[in-house]
Amino acid sequence: MKIFKVCHACDRIIGEIELNDLTSNNSDPIMDIIGNVAYTLCTDCLRDMETKPRNVYH
Ligand SMILES: [Zn+2]
Repeated sequence: MKIFKVCHACDRIIGEIELNDLTSNNSDPIMDIIGNVAYTLCTDCLRDMETKPRNVYH
């Protein structure tokens, strides 16, 4: 079963992955799977979060 990998922040489709790969090799712990979509963060948004101050979540 193939699922889409979508960025949580910008809704960009990052790619497709096999669900079997996830269960056997969980390489992305921040991934959140809902239905056939795996929400994660693309590299751009990850970098954004790392550079922004922590108080952005308030
Ligand atoms: Zn993004």
